[in-house]
Amino acid sequence: MATLIQPDLEFKREIIGLDAHDLSVCYQCGTCSAVCPISTADNPFPRKEMVWVQWGLKGRALGNSSIWMCHQCGTCNTYCPRDAKPANVMAALRDYSIAHYAVPRFMGRALSEPRYLPLLFAIPALVFLAILGWLGNLTALPRGQIVFSKFMPILYIEVAFMAAIGLSMVGAALGGVRYWKAMSRSAGVSSNGHNPRRHIVSTLLDILKHRKFRQCGEEPAGTRKTYKGHLHKTHLAVFWGFMGLVVTTTSVGIGIYAFGYLTPWPFWHPVKILGNVSGIVVIAAVTVFLWRRIVDQAKAGKSTYSDWLFLAILLLTTLTGFLCQWLRLADLRALAYPTYFVHLIFIFFLLVYIPYSKFAHIVYRTVAMLHAASSGARP
Ligand code: SF4
Ligand code: SF4
Repeated sequence: MATLIQPDLEFKREIIGLDAHDLSVCYQCGTCSAVCPISTADNPFPRKEMVWVQWGLKGRALGNSSIWMCHQCGTCNTYCPRDAKPANVMAALRDYSIAHYAVPRFMGRALSEPRYLPLLFAIPALVFLAILGWLGNLTALPRGQIVFSKFMPILYIEVAFMAAIGLSMVGAALGGVRYWKAMSRSAGVSSNGHNPRRHIVSTLLDILKHRKFRQCGEEPAGTRKTYKGHLHKTHLAVFWGFMGLVVTTTSVGIGIYAFGYLTPWPFWHPVKILGNVSGIVVIAAVTVFLWRRIVDQAKAGKSTYSDWLFLAILLLTTLTGFLCQWLRLADLRALAYPTYFVHLIFIFFLLVYIPYSKFAHIVYRTVAMLHAASSGARP
C-alpha cells in the first residue's frame, strides 16, 4: 500500500526561522543519535527529527516524545560532521511545540513573539493598578513603617494570583493532553493504549533527581568539548532554588492565615532564611546559565527569544524580591512600594504564563517522559 506524505513547508520554514537554518546540510549519517548520551536504540534521536523537519513532517516531529527527552547538552552539535546543528533543531521543535499545543492558542503566540511583550506586562500591571486604585493606594503610599501588605493586602494578591494561576493550570492540563494525544496518534495507538499510572512515581523521581541531566554529563561521547559540563548542577540549583522560593511563599501564607503571624518576618526566621538562600541560589545558577549560553553558543545552540525571556524574567523576579527587602530595611518608602509593585508583575509573568513560556518544559517534558516510559521507549 502506498504511503502518502504531505510535507508542510511552512512548518519547515518556521523551524528554520527558530535558529535551525543549518538543518538542510544533514546527510543522515546518524552520528548525532550515536553520540547523544540520552538517545537509545529503542528511542533514537535527533537524526529522525532532522529528516522529519527536512521533509516537513510536522505531525511526526511534534507528536514525538524525543524532542523533550533532549536536554540540550550540545553533544550532537559538537560531533555532527556537517555542522547541521541538530541540538538547535531540537530546541526549535520544543519552542514551536509550546506554541502549537498552547490552550488558548494566542497565549502561545504571545509568549513567542517580542511584539506582544508590552501586552503581557500590561495585563498584570492593570490588574494590580485596579486593586491599588480600589484601595486608594494609588495616590498616597501607606504611612509609617514599610509593610508591603498595607500597600497591597495579601488577600487581594492571593485572589488575583489564584484566579489567574487556576486558569493557566487549566491551559497547562489541556496543552498536556493535546500533546499526549498527538504522541499516541503518531505511534499509532489510542490515547488510552498506555497506562501511565504505574510510571508516575518513577518519572517524578527522575525529574526531582534530574537524572537525565546527570546522564548527559556521565556518558561522554568522546574527547570533544561540549556544553554539558555545568548542565546537571546548574539546572538542579535553579530547580531546588525555585522550589525553596515556592515553599517560602506558601509558608508565609500558612503563617498568616493559620497562625496570624503577620509580615514582615524577622531575618533570623527559618522561612526567611530559606527564602534568602533560595533566592541567592537561583540568581547564581541563572547567571551561570546566561554566561554559558553566551560563551558556548556554538555548542549549546544559539539561544532563542524564549530562552532569554525565561532566564531574564526568572532573574528579575528574584532580584526585585531582594531589592524590596533592602529598600524596606533602608526605610525608602517612595522606592520600596513601587519596587514591590514591579516585583508582583514579574511574579505574575513567571507563574501565570508557565504553560506558554519556556517554563512550559515542566509540563511538556513531564508528559513526554511519562509517555515514553508507558510506551516502553524510556531512554
Ligand atoms: S545532524 Fe549531523 S550527525 Fe546527525 S545525521 Fe545529520 S549530518 Fe549526521
Ligand atoms: S543536545 Fe544532547 S540530549 Fe539533545 S539530542 Fe543532542 S546530544 Fe542528545
